[in-house]
Amino acid sequence: MPLVVQKYGGTSVGDAERIATVARRVVETRKAGNDVIVVVSAMGQTTDELIQLATTISSQPGGREMDMLLTAGERISMALLAMAIKDMGVEAASLTGSQAGILTDSSHGEAKITAIRGDRVRQYLDEGLVVIVAGFQGVDPESRDVTTLGRGGSDTTAVALAAVLGADVCEIYTDVDGVFTADPRVVGTARKLDEVSYEDMLELAGAGTGVLMARSVEFARRYGIPLHVRSSFHNGVGTWIKEKAMEETVITGIAQDTSAAKVTVQGVPDQPGIAAGLFGALAAEDVDVDMIVQNVSTEGHTDISFTVAKEHLDKAKSAAEAIMPELGAVGLDVDPEIAKVSLVGAGMRNHPGVAADMFKVLAERDINISMISTSAIRVSCVIDSGRSDEAVRALHDYYLPAEANA
Ligand code: ADP
Ligand code: ASP
Ligand code: MG
Repeated sequence: MPLVVQKYGGTSVGDAERIATVARRVVETRKAGNDVIVVVSAMGQTTDELIQLATTISSQPGGREMDMLLTAGERISMALLAMAIKDMGVEAASLTGSQAGILTDSSHGEAKITAIRGDRVRQYLDEGLVVIVAGFQGVDPESRDVTTLGRGGSDTTAVALAAVLGADVCEIYTDVDGVFTADPRVVGTARKLDEVSYEDMLELAGAGTGVLMARSVEFARRYGIPLHVRSSFHNGVGTWIKEKAMEETVITGIAQDTSAAKVTVQGVPDQPGIAAGLFGALAAEDVDVDMIVQNVSTEGHTDISFTVAKEHLDKAKSAAEAIMPELGAVGLDVDPEIAKVSLVGAGMRNHPGVAADMFKVLAERDINISMISTSAIRVSCVIDSGRSDEAVRALHDYYLPAEANA
């Protein structure tokens, strides 16, 4: 029997009526002759509300208790959905990530899946049940504590289960019709893409396109699982993510990311070993650094700027401050008001000049670029976060104009 994995995001299970709609779709899929695994997110804004609640109770809630709290969100939706499906006459059982055998490392809040023991899910499927798994969570087998996989992690739960259990397709149901050329809530003329390659989707997700978590795309690519990103509100075809996409445009999409902050270490001596010392100290504290720029040297001194996720900012600041005397640095500056805007598309490999045009479009609007980074299929600029939406719209008008889509 074909195996389908369906993942429903927060808005899609946001209230009782929506849960009933999801249940109907699951029941239809089951009755059409498929085995079905369903992965659910927490209802609506539950995760944000729980984080907010924790911060009003404690200034340092701690990773273990935070994960205990946040995993509760997905538990609510999984149980409610199981009840709704059973009421429609189809047998179903819900499982937490831990019960479903999702094993992770010990990094609370950003745990990585290390293995999945799929036997319990498999057994339930063999018994004819629809299996509902709580998204975004697992268990560290050493400490036996529950962990979470990071924001948006239910996508990763779904794709990882699809990979391990050999699903024929993994459907990601969300609150938009698919993957668009830019966030449709920001760019009115953004259009839905019919197909996107794993390669482009990985870069888009990594550059801040929140519709899929980047790690889920990595799993899908590694195990060759086709993903279908589609709306939970209607039956229309969404976007297929697979090895090769039919469309070969220069730019596939435009992403923006306001989740990072910029740190500048000022006045370090321009000599060998300085960057190694600074980034070694950050790595020792598990701080992920994204972009790095070293400024032009004046009188033997230079500034080094880098970006880190806002959640890592405190760690990054203390690690940098601790190593500054040793490096001979004179100051430290932090700017959280930044945005990274990125053009993504495998087609740019054969089109020189993409970056130059991007800089021109931003310059015409007097938008200052403070950092630049590129990969073979991406160009990213860091700008002031207040100009981010405007920059994305301008770049979209230039590279993906509405009339070309007609
Ligand atoms: P879910 O709760 O279903 O996981 P998310 O909020 O994580 O939903 O992701 C869906 C949202 O991603 C959309 O509502 C949309 O605003 C945003 N988004 C950003 N960029 C894009 C894009 N290029 N295409 C589609 N959606 C995008
Ligand atoms: N509920 C979690 C979050 O809001 C996981 C998810 O929705 O994917 O990040
Ligand atoms: Mg999501």
